Amino acid sequence: MLFANATLPDGSRHHIDVRGGRIAALLPSASAIGHDALDLAGALVLPPLVDGHIHLDKTLLGLPWVPNQATGSRVADRIEAERKVRATRTVAEAETGANLVRQVLASGTLHMRSHVDIDNQLGLGNLHEILQVRDRFRDLVSIQIVAFPQSGILRSPGTAELLDAAIAEGADLVGGLDPVGIDGDLDAHLGTVFGIAERRGVGVDIHLHDSGETGIAALAAIARRTEAAGLNNRVAVSHAFALGSVPTDVAERTADLLAEAGVAIMSHGPGGATIPPLKLLHEHGVEVFGGSDNIRDAWSPFGNGDMLQRAMMIAYRANFRHDEELALAFDMVTAAAARVLGLASYGIAAGAPADFVVVEAGSLAEAVASYPRRKLVIKAGRIVARDGVLVP
Ligand SMILES: [Zn+2]
Repeated sequence: MLFANATLPDGSRHHIDVRGGRIAALLPSASAIGHDALDLAGALVLPPLVDGHIHLDKTLLGLPWVPNQATGSRVADRIEAERKVRATRTVAEAETGANLVRQVLASGTLHMRSHVDIDNQLGLGNLHEILQVRDRFRDLVSIQIVAFPQSGILRSPGTAELLDAAIAEGADLVGGLDPVGIDGDLDAHLGTVFGIAERRGVGVDIHLHDSGETGIAALAAIARRTEAAGLNNRVAVSHAFALGSVPTDVAERTADLLAEAGVAIMSHGPGGATIPPLKLLHEHGVEVFGGSDNIRDAWSPFGNGDMLQRAMMIAYRANFRHDEELALAFDMVTAAAARVLGLASYGIAAGAPADFVVVEAGSLAEAVASYPRRKLVIKAGRIVARDGVLVP
């Protein structure tokens, strides 16, 4: 199969020669094309989108609208609200999670990291549901699973053992949540998380909403433990609002600690919170990456899983305007996220899987700013979605 006249992200024009599900070669656009070639007519070809932070088990996508039930704006209020929604839920997480996977696939996401709730009420139930989803879509999307202690670890006795069991049953990473804000004990919380990571040889991804000096202390402790455990480049902190709530010199010092330890930072460009200074972090060598976070669930009524639109939202919240800034936002939802997820052989190059997304845009920057409809989503050389709709 030849995808002719593709404009690559660097602006160059090539024919993409696909054989056996891989890119065999990028041919000069002056070379002749046969009758069976698919002429892209200069459309922009992007690498597959990567969602570095999604919650497949929480979404209510496809169900009748559920009003948000939080009675306050603290993390603890939202955890309580989610428990109420869970109690009345009648449709399995595997079904709504599949609805979300189909939707993100149509928008060009071929890799994702999903956090999955684990606590002493749910046990491993949600994990089992999302393991089914992962199996079902195995040929189309790669799904990495984080065992996520949504109710805390210390305040939900038994959760530490469940997190450990989750890894044994197929979760890929161990998660954490506000060691001080939720569990009230930085060392005990991180000790459990890193203890499991070391024992099981897995990476870590911690939700950190804790702000100000509390959050900064947590980031420093995470960097220290990452180095001590030899987990460099296998640890991420999601949200890290603290970095956006302290003076620049404190953010810079913390950025250096994170860069040295290889701790990545995820932001989804949220409203109502101080987002981390993404450019500053990037300039200090910290890997910054993006994700959707909550989509139509008890936490947020918003979201659709479109990572190109997410790049726009991140750029908007970060007050990015120049093309090189929009390129950073794009990197966060593609190559940077792919590095954090440890994806081998990613990108549009000879030898890589023939996975790509075709859009109508004159440049990468325009693609971020306008997040156009995906003309084609190609997986292993096969068209899986056309004009934003999955091909049956
Ligand atoms: Zn999250």
